[in-house]
Amino acid sequence: MSASPVTRSAHAAVDPEPNNPELRRLTALCGLDRRFVRGEGVWLTDAAGRRFLDAYAQYGAVVLGHNAPAVREAVEAALRDRVPAMVQPHEAAHAEALGRALAAEVPGGPRRCVFGTSGAEAVEAAIKLVRARSGRPVVLSAAGSFHGRTLGALAATGQAHHREGFGPMPPGFETVPYGDADALAYRLEREGERIAAFFVEPVQGESGVHVPPADYLARVRTLCDRHGVALVVDEIQTGLGRTGPLFAVGGAGVAPDVLLLAKGLGGGLFPLSACLVADAWWSSRFALGHSSTFANNNVACAAGLAMLRALAAPHAGAPSLLAHATAVGAHLGDGLRRLQRRFPDLVRDVRGRGLLWALELEAPADQDGLLLGYLGHQGLYAYAVAAALAETASVLTLPTLGTRHVLRVAPPLVIDRAQANAVVDGLGDLLARLQERMGETLLRGMGWTATEADPDAVHGACVALPPAAPRTEVVRLRRLHDAGGHRTCQRARKDWPPRRGRFSAGRIPPARHREADDIAVSAVGSRDPSQAARAAHG
Ligand code: PLP
Repeated sequence: MSASPVTRSAHAAVDPEPNNPELRRLTALCGLDRRFVRGEGVWLTDAAGRRFLDAYAQYGAVVLGHNAPAVREAVEAALRDRVPAMVQPHEAAHAEALGRALAAEVPGGPRRCVFGTSGAEAVEAAIKLVRARSGRPVVLSAAGSFHGRTLGALAATGQAHHREGFGPMPPGFETVPYGDADALAYRLEREGERIAAFFVEPVQGESGVHVPPADYLARVRTLCDRHGVALVVDEIQTGLGRTGPLFAVGGAGVAPDVLLLAKGLGGGLFPLSACLVADAWWSSRFALGHSSTFANNNVACAAGLAMLRALAAPHAGAPSLLAHATAVGAHLGDGLRRLQRRFPDLVRDVRGRGLLWALELEAPADQDGLLLGYLGHQGLYAYAVAAALAETASVLTLPTLGTRHVLRVAPPLVIDRAQANAVVDGLGDLLARLQERMGETLLRGMGWTATEADPDAVHGACVALPPAAPRTEVVRLRRLHDAGGHRTCQRARKDWPPRRGRFSAGRIPPARHREADDIAVSAVGSRDPSQAARAAHG
């Protein structure tokens, strides 16, 4: 993979009134504030012409890669033919066709399809449906699950930190441990008559890519049948080939009552989601009491149809894109596992299936120094690693949304072996650098060593040094906290300046972190930004 020279000016300029200034500031602080101007296949190109391999596929939404030709052609044809995108409540021919095509692929016979525009909207539809159909109030989901950020989906999400500050939540949502069919059996035995549905991901994505035992879904199916509880399988992340088969639940030989799709369904061009409902769980109350203005968009559904066809079409010598992705996914997984064996102090675990992979990182601890400890505390370590990977290898990854330090590697399904090798090699090179000089590598990756005096510095401008602040790093850490860190920065202030003695203790060899704090200390003593930069680069 060719990597053009590092050009900081490719990062987005600071807009005085961006749409979401807090997020903007946080991404700038983490060095994740690039401005992309072109997307093609697995590649994203920034304003300076530097090409990056998108190894997280926009949280899984660009299954076929950016601006996939098959999808573009279908959309262009629909527009050329003046297909009316929106004809509610009349029959939308492309939406009908996509609904039929999807239903035909889901194991378990005929079903209805309700379209929406986001994954969370599909989850909301399913919650309403199962309550309307069963008359039961409780929606059960799995601890660690992620189902979206609207209120019902958030209430169903089994990770409390996503709900903090947004309460009160709607009532009627409870959890059981994930991957534990016995725990589900126990709960259903005792309270099955109150429970409308069990919502479950075949592989939990956002909690850090957790794969359940092989017989889990089959056992869940049996239990739901026994207690008249709907099995709602959330394949918003795992569906459409992400874990190998078209639907992970099909791979497990299980027929869901309700199957949820989104992300890649719109071909990477349109927001599109689907809630596919088995006849037995359809409800006329729901059918006449649920709708949304943008549902059944004909052009979006034409994109979805093209996407579905592309998954089944031969690709790069393989009988289908799904088969191709399965083979490349296994190859990628082998490469990532090799990295774990090579860097056991840095990579705690590698998990995944198909093209959905996670590297769980060993987070720096307090004794690793102020900066690294702070990144660990604030949950920003994996973001810093992602920034450094983009900088050193032109590979884009992002953390999952759980509480651990987990980097997701989930590229578009069209990725080839050479590109998968580039991801593994880039990660290997970065891990070697982190092992040698963790602090400096991360500081550089996040752009904290760039300064206003440096014409290429954009991150420096984002975190402008105050004119006479003697303690640059403290200011930066405070801003980091203001920008979204969820713990107080008190510790950082209290412990500043760092005491040398602390650095020699701990699991990580002192050399790994000492230079980070050396850089920080240089910056602290300096009112001349370029001096800090020189310290960092020297
Ligand atoms: N369900 C799962 C399993 C997801 O991974 C996500 C998003 O990551 C959602 C639901 C929510 O989807 P959306 O962000 O489109 O609302």
